[in-house]
Order: sequence, then C-alpha cells, then structure tokens
Amino acid sequence: MSYFVVNETCNGCLACVENCPANALSWRDNGKKRVLLHNMARCARCANCWRICPQHAIEFQHFLENIWDEVISLDLVHCKICGEPIYTADIEKALSGKIGREIDPLCPRHKQSDFVGRQAMGFLKNEIKEAKNDRS
Ligand code: SF4
Ligand code: SF4
Repeated sequence: MSYFVVNETCNGCLACVENCPANALSWRDNGKKRVLLHNMARCARCANCWRICPQHAIEFQHFLENIWDEVISLDLVHCKICGEPIYTADIEKALSGKIGREIDPLCPRHKQSDFVGRQAMGFLKNEIKEAKNDRS
C-alpha cells in the first residue's frame, strides 16, 4: 500500500516536484501520459508538497494525524498471582528453551516476595532444627 496518495484533481503542474527538498518526487512523460512518481525511502514527510499543491491533490493528512497504528499483536503471559502482564509468550518460550525448563510466570514484585518467602521458610526450618537440638 502506498501512503503517499495523489487524487484525481492533480493537473500535473509539477509544483510539488520542484519544491520537494528531498528529491522524493519526480515525473515521467510517457507517450500521451505524464506520470508523477514518489519515492518513500527519500521522503522526509515534511508535507511541503501538500502545502504547496495548488490543486489540494496530495492527500497527506493521514501522515500528520497523531494516531498510533497497530503493527503486530502478540500473546501475553500474566503473573500467576496478580495477573499483571509480564512478557510475551514468545519471550517465555525462548527463555524456557534456553534454560531447559518451564518458567514460573511471576511479575518482579511477586518474584521478590516468592524469594523472600523462600528465605523465610529456610530461616524457620533452621529455627526449628536448632530448637530441637537444644531440647535433646
Ligand atoms: S513530504 Fe516533503 S519530502 Fe516527502 S514528497 Fe512531499 S515535499 Fe518531498
Ligand atoms: S503540485 Fe499538486 S497538482 Fe501539481 S503535480 Fe503536484 S500533486 Fe499534481
């Protein structure tokens, strides 16, 4: 799809070609036809052509709209405790492959609390062991 659109009101005056600072516009006279050319790789999206066109033939408005286009949509993995999105399923798959086991889906906060929980359990076990030793 071409993002640079010139509508049927264009009369081939070439004002846009002459005033494009990036040489992104050109033309070709082909037998009975004048063909206007645009090169997207060169285009600086400055909209000069749009401003200058006497026919208002260049439909550049959609370039200037402050909108976000969705370019891709990926499956998410959520923290198993709070449901917060953490990473994409593709990243999880790649990481699992690297470490050779499944990853527990936990957000940073719950990973931390899980770690603290494990430490607390270890501490408790030691306390119980020491208490038992004291009694014997
Ligand atoms: S937007 Fe600017 S750089 Fe692109 S074709 Fe128009 S005048 Fe040239
Ligand atoms: S300035 Fe407008 S009318 Fe003239 S060639 Fe360019 S697009 Fe067509």
